[in-house]
Amino acid sequence: MAAKKAETRGFETEAKQLLHLMIHSLYSNKEIFLRELISNASDAADKLRFAALSQPELLESGGDPKVQIDFDSEKNILVISDNGIGMTRDEVITNLGTIAKSGTAQFLETLTGDQKKDSQLIGQFGVGFYSAFIVADKVEVRTRKAGTPEDEATLWMSEGEADYSLEATAKATSGTEITLHLKTEEKEYAESYRLRSIVKKYADHISIPVFMQKEDMGSPDAGEDSEDKSDEEKAVEYEAVNEAKALWTRPRKDVKADEYKEFYKSVSHDFEDPLEWSHNKVEGKLEYTSLLYVPARAPYDLWNRDSARGLKLYVQRIFIMDDAEQFLPLYLRFMKGIVDSNDISLNVSREILQKDPVIDSMRSALTKRALDMLEKMRKKDKEKYLGFWNEFGQALKEGPAEDFANKDKIAKLLQFTTTHSESGAQDQGLEDYVSRMKEDQEKIYYIVAESAKAGRNSPHLEIFRKKGIEVILMHDRIDEWLMSHLQNFDGHQFQDISRGELNLGKLEDEEDKEVQEKTEKEFVKLVERIKENLGDKVKEVRVTHRLTDSPACLAVDDNDMGMQMRKIMEASGQAVPETKPIFEINPAHPLLVKLDKEADEDRFGDIVSILFGQAGLADGVQLEDPADFSKRLNKLLLELVD
Ligand code: ADP
Repeated sequence: MAAKKAETRGFETEAKQLLHLMIHSLYSNKEIFLRELISNASDAADKLRFAALSQPELLESGGDPKVQIDFDSEKNILVISDNGIGMTRDEVITNLGTIAKSGTAQFLETLTGDQKKDSQLIGQFGVGFYSAFIVADKVEVRTRKAGTPEDEATLWMSEGEADYSLEATAKATSGTEITLHLKTEEKEYAESYRLRSIVKKYADHISIPVFMQKEDMGSPDAGEDSEDKSDEEKAVEYEAVNEAKALWTRPRKDVKADEYKEFYKSVSHDFEDPLEWSHNKVEGKLEYTSLLYVPARAPYDLWNRDSARGLKLYVQRIFIMDDAEQFLPLYLRFMKGIVDSNDISLNVSREILQKDPVIDSMRSALTKRALDMLEKMRKKDKEKYLGFWNEFGQALKEGPAEDFANKDKIAKLLQFTTTHSESGAQDQGLEDYVSRMKEDQEKIYYIVAESAKAGRNSPHLEIFRKKGIEVILMHDRIDEWLMSHLQNFDGHQFQDISRGELNLGKLEDEEDKEVQEKTEKEFVKLVERIKENLGDKVKEVRVTHRLTDSPACLAVDDNDMGMQMRKIMEASGQAVPETKPIFEINPAHPLLVKLDKEADEDRFGDIVSILFGQAGLADGVQLEDPADFSKRLNKLLLELVD
């Protein structure tokens, strides 16, 4: 054994940073290290079972999968061992010396230095193996990969923070044994009672047994020689402390809420409880069990397109793969959970999953299940739902474009700020809107603006305010794009109020229409004069029906790109087709009345330019020539001062 000398290596920078953070920010929830280590051991057992599908000899020596916990309260040592897949020396280096998660660097940048906030963030990131250093000042990992010779085991050792050492060693059984040399102040984790209660709490749902020595047997020496004990001795001294039954295989009525929550944490590596879950067994043409969770908080990498997503896939209770993304659409990428199928081959690969029609049917059923779960939450507990919406609403807004079949279901889930909302919060659903529609109202009116406030104050809203018609104030970047995929809801067409000619349908009475026609005729000349003045800056000039208080506004032609979309595309450097706005004037406004009488062409031009610029500013559009705008404005101001 120990053919090679120990070699010392530095942790990768990111690993070092994460380690440091872990040790310093997770002080309030230290015991989770045990959950993480047991969960790794259970994953290792899963992986071995999977590998043994094609290499059955791997299972020959190890016995039934299990985790064993030993401790020595005098030496302050805790040992967690498993007979799972184990690691080769190279795997130890990559798995324990580097952080392979995508987006780690960005994640580290989001940390604030505020311990409380950071500990929450790090919870979302998932702490894993390194959490051992929360309670230990020295950690040893002895591991041998299943199928490799006894003397090809590896001993990894580290005191945290800076570096680790590697040494070749021998190990009688394959699998991994992790020895924690506990910090003096963490003694409690080498005490039977404390350990048992943690294992109960975190490992009841783990599908393999976690063994601990029987309580009345005293504390045998832990560590180095623990695996030298004979099986017989173990059978006498050890007992399983958890239920060791895969949680999803138990009937729903037998699983307590706390167990669902703990299971979620081990599946998702999240620290917080989930918001909601749905556990279902499907029988019939297809047979599978699914357990879907809605997390409480968006992960740090929700917007990273390459980040891992999807469910944990089991086939007949055998773990097959993590992050099986084929079971849910991208817009539901925040969902966590497992699916266990009886209809998929054990040899399934990611490539096969992509083509299998069985997966397609499961995917549509699971999507429906997930949407129904959200709908139920929305109906039952609006406040909770709005909490969900704040975290994941933006992702859900991708839904109508991605998932045509479920467009109506998704539309029901959308939340917006409307003129009915008291603040700028997105707290109104489309059903809420429809329930408040005016008797003769046929369409659902919305405006897309830079912010809810800008939307609320837009001149386009004036006529709606006057008539008491509710308008949706859309202000997310994605909204204009979303609306290009949603044509109607509950039989009502959507109408962007800054687009096209305003037509309020039955909401306008005959009298309104007559007045409109009359003013249009009356101001034909003024309209012509303005059009000449603005030239090719505008597509059209016309008398408005939208305004009551403002002198003028801009409208977008029906088929032209909206202003928000234009801004987003420009910002991302894409070519944007050139479009011109329609300039609408309100001849009832005193400024327009004066303008109509203005004989001085220069002065007329100044006022028109300023009105046109202002109308753009109200829509959040930048002035084309700010210097010219200011010059003209100052010229008029000067007259005032004179
Ligand atoms: P995660 O489990 O989220 O991948 P960890 O930091 O907990 O992150 O572990 C990193 C990797 O180390 C695991 O993905 C796994 O490959 C390996 N590993 C950890 N513990 C064990 C174990 N007991 N047996 C085998 N491999 C392990």
